[in-house]
Amino acid sequence: MRPEVLFPLFKPVGALKGIGPRLAKLVETLAGPRVVNLLWHLPSGIIDRRYAPKIGEAEPGRIATITVRVDRHRKPPNRRIPYKVQCSDETGTLTLVFFHAHADYLAGALPTGEMRVVSGRVDDYDGDIQMTHPDHIAEVAELARLQTVEPVYPLTEGLSLKVLSRAVRAAVALAPPLEEWIDPTFVARQGWKPWRDALTEAHAPATTEALDPATPARCRLAYDELLANQVALCLVRASFRRLSGRRLQGDGALRAKVLAALPFQLTPAQQTAVSEIVADMESDSRMLRLLQGDVGSGKTVVALLAMLNAVESGTQAALMAPTDVLARQHMATLEPLAAAAGVPIVLLTGREKGKAREIALARIAEGEAPLVVGTHALFQEDVAFRDLGLAVIDEQHRFGVHQRLMLAAKGRAADVLVMTATPIPRTLMLTAYGDMDVSRLTGKPPGRRPVDTRLVPTERTDEVIEAVGRSVKQGAGVYWVCPLIEESEALDVAAAEDRHRALAQAFPGTVGLLHGRMKEAERDRTMAAFEAGDIRILVATTVIEVGVDVAHATVMVVEHAERFGLAQLHQLRGRVGRGEKPSTCLLLYAKPLTPSAESRLRIMRETEDGFRIAEEDLRLRGAGEVLGTRQSGVPEFRLADLSAHGELLGAARDDALLVLQKDPELRQPRGQAVRTLLYLFERDAVARNLRSG
Ligand code: ADP
Ligand code: MG
Repeated sequence: MRPEVLFPLFKPVGALKGIGPRLAKLVETLAGPRVVNLLWHLPSGIIDRRYAPKIGEAEPGRIATITVRVDRHRKPPNRRIPYKVQCSDETGTLTLVFFHAHADYLAGALPTGEMRVVSGRVDDYDGDIQMTHPDHIAEVAELARLQTVEPVYPLTEGLSLKVLSRAVRAAVALAPPLEEWIDPTFVARQGWKPWRDALTEAHAPATTEALDPATPARCRLAYDELLANQVALCLVRASFRRLSGRRLQGDGALRAKVLAALPFQLTPAQQTAVSEIVADMESDSRMLRLLQGDVGSGKTVVALLAMLNAVESGTQAALMAPTDVLARQHMATLEPLAAAAGVPIVLLTGREKGKAREIALARIAEGEAPLVVGTHALFQEDVAFRDLGLAVIDEQHRFGVHQRLMLAAKGRAADVLVMTATPIPRTLMLTAYGDMDVSRLTGKPPGRRPVDTRLVPTERTDEVIEAVGRSVKQGAGVYWVCPLIEESEALDVAAAEDRHRALAQAFPGTVGLLHGRMKEAERDRTMAAFEAGDIRILVATTVIEVGVDVAHATVMVVEHAERFGLAQLHQLRGRVGRGEKPSTCLLLYAKPLTPSAESRLRIMRETEDGFRIAEEDLRLRGAGEVLGTRQSGVPEFRLADLSAHGELLGAARDDALLVLQKDPELRQPRGQAVRTLLYLFERDAVARNLRSG
């Protein structure tokens, strides 16, 4: 239950004074649906109204608060001409300008012959000092109240600063004093104020320096958010672990057969990963491990060995991929190896229908299929395992925390191995996965050769096409990736179709097309033709980003590479450099380049190190976007900015562990305060859901 003290903060924003239904909608899209969300909407600038010059001294372009006498109203003959009010002091005259004015209102607010204070931006029109639509008009007694620094908030169309500021002020006023949830010595050492004071301060910046994320007030709020995140993750993990695991200790017989059947030796990194995973499975606590390795680093075989350990122990193992294509590809890889070990394997995706699906379901339920490969179709309720011992989730950052654990819930305390190809920077690891155990496949993926990466301006596309022609003659497979256009899949497809037509004309009979709007079966056929070499040039939208493996593909062309993110470019380039022959990646770009696009392309040319690229990506874009927060289950932070508050994350993690170690149920006084923190940051749902899971 949400603590009562927080009730006022969890009312809908429409409950605030001055926020009717229309404005509520705008506030909701801008900040969030509840009052509490407005607390997190921090100022992005300030308006300094302390500058109070005489009219004659007022600097044009500045915000000024000026005391004037109202001399004369000049009502316009029609509403297209602005309404003007002439004012003055002993140094000069000031014209107040109003468009679409309400004459009655202005007559009341600015009575002729009286003194008033006006505050707003001063402009000079050919010697006429003007203020258009003053932000404030007040009586002289209110001068001091007006002469302050006002916070400026990020706005959205239709929502004025005045209205939003009033709403935020009202929200902050509703913030109750709360018991301290941070370790008191840590608070003291950082010189932080209590939560409500820090919040009030963050919303009342007196200088632009006060907007810096490094100020104590903003740091404290960021820390609160990080702590909530870390406690929630620790709770998830604890509840996961509480369903105590089982020992899966195989005799190694199946693994030995597969190792003998492999055309290669495991790399040292793979061997280490396998032993870490197997050690977890053999222990009686539940495994929750992340296997992190760049595209092509050889995660699949590591997963297979773990799966066989589960099978040797008499249980089943499932591998779940984010797309049908990937699931099928995994199936194609694993099937012959499973056959070498004499272990049946079945495929279950959304495309297995009718009789085929029934058969697959029956084999899974009866345990006749110890190995299962599939998509999220494996989550569905009619899928029952006889005894699932290990769930492997090939994530490619598409699944959220919940989904990850749902598959695990299908097993009796099934161990979970999550595979990710995103080389997540250390700072992000914690927020994304908490303190999940990690195995890393480092170093260059097995069999990889360096890729020669070149930047080519679009004007030279014709030369690129010629070069592609030469490569094709020498037997190369070529990927040609078409640009992302806004967020419109239809436009992406149109661009790809145009390029496909053009290339097909130049190289008849050798060009294929692959995009997200095609039927799955058609995509598979095209992919198969490319693998077989019947298609030489594969024009594609970014659908090919996801783990496709074609060894003879040695040329990657990316059109409008400047529009792609670093992570995406890295993934794309990872498609080549897999075979014996040297590979090339041509990044076509259109000028002019923004500074950030220029950095991205430069980094691509400089390095192939996924971890370095990920760090750069984080630096260039900020944490929120790096993982594609929505899809990855990585929380989006409102207050914490990991490029500025990264250091605080480790402290928050340690603090979270400590609190939960002393008080796993969060019942003691500090635990109670932490509970309130979870509710404040709406992390309670995560904790609650998973506890009952
Ligand atoms: P990931 O899933 O990490 O992207 P894969 O598991 O698909 O990578 O492996 C990429 C390719 O490398 C596959 O063709 C696989 O057979 C091959 N491979 C895996 N391990 C080794 C190894 N130790 N030596 C040589 N090739 C390997
Ligand atoms: Mg893979």
